[in-house]
Amino acid sequence: MSYRLELNEATVTFGATDVVQRVSLQLREGDIGCLLGPSGCGKTTLLRAIAGFEPLRQGRIALHGKVVCDTQRMIAPERRRVGMVFQDFALFPHLTVAGNIGFGLRGWTAAEKQSRIADLLTLVGLSDSAGKHPHQLSGGQQQRIALARAMAPRPEILLLDEPFSALDPELRGQLASEVRSLLKQDGITAILVTHDQTEAFAMADQIGVMSQGKLHQWDSGYNLYHHPATTFVADFVGRGALFAIQVADRNSIDTPFGRLSGKLPDGIETGTALQLLIRPDDIHLTTKEGSISARISERLFQGAEYLYTLQLASGHHFQCLAPSHQQHTPGDTVSLKLDIQDLVLFSNDGRAL
Ligand code: ATP
Repeated sequence: MSYRLELNEATVTFGATDVVQRVSLQLREGDIGCLLGPSGCGKTTLLRAIAGFEPLRQGRIALHGKVVCDTQRMIAPERRRVGMVFQDFALFPHLTVAGNIGFGLRGWTAAEKQSRIADLLTLVGLSDSAGKHPHQLSGGQQQRIALARAMAPRPEILLLDEPFSALDPELRGQLASEVRSLLKQDGITAILVTHDQTEAFAMADQIGVMSQGKLHQWDSGYNLYHHPATTFVADFVGRGALFAIQVADRNSIDTPFGRLSGKLPDGIETGTALQLLIRPDDIHLTTKEGSISARISERLFQGAEYLYTLQLASGHHFQCLAPSHQQHTPGDTVSLKLDIQDLVLFSNDGRAL
């Protein structure tokens, strides 16, 4: 199968440091990918390598089945037909909105240009702003124009580097899902860089979680949350807590919550030390006297729910969500019920079993 974008063992080096280490991933035509990770993990460097601004020390990058970079060759950015949208969207202030969108349409006839600009203005919902200048638009509107400008020449792939980070948080969430539907309507393949997981979930079909130059997992948001490949992903995505546990027998484990049963992978010996992931939605507070109790140490109002931080008598901390009409106060002792569909277990080197 030919992918729109394919990276094999891509490694980018600055000085003596591999800032991107042997990253492999594939993106199908029309899909939206996302690189997610903490500051300095190599997301922007990887995006710049895809665009053609950084060479590879090892590995290769192919666009539409054609190698654009490996250790022997490096095709220039302008010949890769890559569109880019940056954080500081940098529209040309002296050009109108239509002029900005049409800027990259070199070699198009006037009629083709006019029709593409009109289609994109309709797509981004700004048809009545064609003659305005950027300073007459809001931040969100300017970012939509920057997106339309990058989409206009129908790039092989659109790269978006933290495109919403200059906007206020409310507008950011709204724009992320809006931009996703715009890209989908135009059938554009894209990669977004962000450190905000809500944005990643709202926009992407495939998300890559990076840490210190390594890609830990390239997967759907659902799988990152429910089947994280490493303890780093488990910790970075969602609000999971990891607990040291021991295998009791073929179907159960001993945990700080007591003995839990569930399916264990074949061939694991009794007594093996592992780590168990517990998500806030695995735990329910109950008014019934239960076998597990914990003390509430913090609570955070989130509208429909409270996010509680709880502590077991053993000292272990974890979090849970509960409807906000059932109020508990820090210092209260509450009973818990665990509702775990699958045991998510990791070996002590941090890899999922
Ligand atoms: P952020 O979210 O803060 O933008 P990032 O994940 O995009 O971070 P990069 O900008 O790719 O991270 O940087 C990865 C590492 O490479 C960092 O340690 C950074 O200091 C280093 N780095 C980036 N560009 C250069 C460069 N041109 N020369 C040397 N080191 C660099």
